[in-house]
Amino acid sequence: MTLTVLMNAGPWLSVPPPGYGGIENVVATLVPELRRLGVRVVLASVESSTLPVDERISVFPDGQFQNLQRPYNQVCGVAQAHLHGVVRALRARDDIDLVHDHVEAAGLATLAAMGPDAPPALHTLHWDLAKHPELYGNLDGGQRVRVNGVSAAQLARAPRALQEHSVGHVHLSTPLAVGADRRPAVAKGEHVVILGRINPGKGQDLGARLARQVGFPLVLAGPVGPYHRPEDLAAAGDEARQNPDVRFFYDQVAPHVDGDLVRWVGTVAGQERDDLVAGARASLFPLRWEEPGGTAVVESLALGTPVVATTRGCLPELIEHGRTGLLTADEEELGELVLAAGLLDEDECRREAAVRFTPERMAQRYVELYEGVRRLAARSLQPA
Ligand code: UDP
Repeated sequence: MTLTVLMNAGPWLSVPPPGYGGIENVVATLVPELRRLGVRVVLASVESSTLPVDERISVFPDGQFQNLQRPYNQVCGVAQAHLHGVVRALRARDDIDLVHDHVEAAGLATLAAMGPDAPPALHTLHWDLAKHPELYGNLDGGQRVRVNGVSAAQLARAPRALQEHSVGHVHLSTPLAVGADRRPAVAKGEHVVILGRINPGKGQDLGARLARQVGFPLVLAGPVGPYHRPEDLAAAGDEARQNPDVRFFYDQVAPHVDGDLVRWVGTVAGQERDDLVAGARASLFPLRWEEPGGTAVVESLALGTPVVATTRGCLPELIEHGRTGLLTADEEELGELVLAAGLLDEDECRREAAVRFTPERMAQRYVELYEGVRRLAARSLQPA
């Protein structure tokens, strides 16, 4: 029997995303592999998504990312409008075997509220599980809504009620891992890269300060709030400061950005992103939060670039200290480790990615979880 999965990617960005996009990248990586394994995929996203699927559902014409950090009273309808469309589709048809949901908080609450009116559901938790304690601490998804994490460290932080709904964790993956062990080495430059949203948790302020203190060239790549290019941020003027990540950038990061040793290049995508990371002597993750999954971490390994990071969240699960990267609990030590990272063997990084972080491996794990979730839901319907 062919399994039909409604993949709910949410209304925030198209799939694949235009550049930055953690969750949308995961969906774009997972779906082609699922389809290769024979799964039919109905994608609930925005109309501008171009990922090949079997069917699409959308409410918004384009991604609503620019609204994500506006005040709640202005944007609380966005996720709800999208989910309303999903619920209507689920009610109107009976061919969906499972919902694989990625919409933070609202997706989980909606599916739990639908109960037996919805197919069994797997909700992937992509974020820090110390969030939403009132929802996660009191979750009742019955026997039909299960969750999975993207690392063991992330799930360990979950409240008990959420853990009771968990069917385990699946590490993130990247298409760059396919054949990474056979890819020829790229000439390394002098620069170090921090790839990610500019945000206090990702710690670009610390990375930039250390770069100037220790004296290594640092490239910061990623959006500042909704602004993908330095010229867009400059053109937005003072109003942009309403966004907390913009304030963080101006107040904590920009003072270190001299355009020479430390540069912010905005969002990079495609080949430009891959060249930037592959040519770096190290990828730096000066984390101040418990990184839940770390796509950029596994991408860096696949591109043959060792990872230097604070020992937080999923990092110890993804990186072997002394082989594929260098980890420390001491923020101030990161600068020295960046200098030492040149001693690591980049082939080890690529080999690790080719074995552990391929989309195929991730998709196989998800198919196992789909079967598990459906079995648990079916068992709950049987008479005792
Ligand atoms: N990314 C990108 N261009 C950028 C910055 C980030 O393509 O300028 C991508 C990055 O390669 C990764 C994703 O955005 O695939 C970020 O995912 P991650 O799990 O590392 O971080 P999140 O933002 O989801 O916490």
